[in-house]
Amino acid sequence: MPVSKEEAAIAVCSFCLKPNTEVKALVAGPGVFICDGCVASCRRVIEQKPKATNHIASWEQEASLDGVLTNLPRIALAGSQVEQNLVAWVRRARYLGATWARVGESLGMTRQSAWERFSGEE
Ligand SMILES: [Zn+2]
Repeated sequence: MPVSKEEAAIAVCSFCLKPNTEVKALVAGPGVFICDGCVASCRRVIEQKPKATNHIASWEQEASLDGVLTNLPRIALAGSQVEQNLVAWVRRARYLGATWARVGESLGMTRQSAWERFSGEE
């Protein structure tokens, strides 16, 4: 689902981490997002054009310590967003009537583990 540019920053692209306010479109997937620019880069990678290596592929090619350290917080931010989305989806499942047992079963964990991770209770 595309996110309108007029809205507040509510999500970032899981690939380049630009917020929805800085891209033309941000498409949601299961806990992740991708922007129009990254879709274009993916398209170049898939089509194997030379320009493709300057965006997404560069993450995997990073070899310097400074470059890797620069990427660490970006990866942590993307992971944090995925976790926040997972929590929101669990809340939605609970709102729709799922028991903690069913949530746990869906995630391959026990009812107790699901409750401990997502209930917000202690
Ligand atoms: Zn992007």
